[in-house]
Amino acid sequence: FLGTISIFRDITHQVEVERLKSEFVATVSHELRTPMTPIKGYVEFLLMGGAGQLNEQQLEFVNIIKTNIDRLSILVDDLLDVSRIEAGKVSLTFQPIDLREVVEGTTETILQQSQEDLRPVNIEVDIPDDLPSIYGDIERVRQIVFNLMDNAYKYSPENSRILIRAFQDRFSVQMDVTDEGVGIFPDEHDKIFERFYRSENQMVMATPGTGLGLPIVKELVELHNGKIWLTSSGVPGEGSTFSFTLPVYQTEQEPLLYE
Ligand code: ADP
Repeated sequence: FLGTISIFRDITHQVEVERLKSEFVATVSHELRTPMTPIKGYVEFLLMGGAGQLNEQQLEFVNIIKTNIDRLSILVDDLLDVSRIEAGKVSLTFQPIDLREVVEGTTETILQQSQEDLRPVNIEVDIPDDLPSIYGDIERVRQIVFNLMDNAYKYSPENSRILIRAFQDRFSVQMDVTDEGVGIFPDEHDKIFERFYRSENQMVMATPGTGLGLPIVKELVELHNGKIWLTSSGVPGEGSTFSFTLPVYQTEQEPLLYE
């Protein structure tokens, strides 16, 4: 035995830089929201013919503005979420939740979107009647379910099938979202949970997105003490399955407010 070497590194500065970075992102995204509200409002107003009937070309241009302002708005919301999560500022209000209701609501939203996009999709829901309630924050659970179902829709060809399953596994409920889409190569399975990562697949690149959805979903699932993972061979058409768990509501649990 020759001795022990101890290395100490002062990370105060690094921690401070990280804090300032999160604060900066939070402030900027918050400030960006304010001017976006009137832009959105006036675009809607123009589209409704509020300033006179638009000709075909004007309609096309205003629609382009609308698509892009919607994209910007998603990006700003995602950035705000990421910075709030990083700063530990996400407060969850726990309550018993019927997952089937959340899935039904989300299915309706996605089907409506698919009608607008003229991209039909089949969504099959396989959830037993006696599935116990889960214990979580309703808004955040909706966000998790929407994100995964929306990805399944976005990264699959039209007329494909999306299957939603949920079942109890001891003290958790597991939900699987299976699609028949482009799939994800095994060496990308960890990367897609990193911020801003988007795969180089043609269909992914042609679809607007921020690469922030899955990192947010992962954090939210983990804040509920759940787990999230995926299985996918990466072969186009063989699709992917995203699975996550959330805790079952125990009747003796009092609704709590966690900061
Ligand atoms: P976004 O969808 O905005 O790009 P996400 O964080 O939700 O951001 O997803 C990150 C990336 O993971 C996507 O860009 C895509 O490459 C891949 N991905 C996510 N879900 C699926 C899916 N169901 N099928 C294929 N690829 C997916």
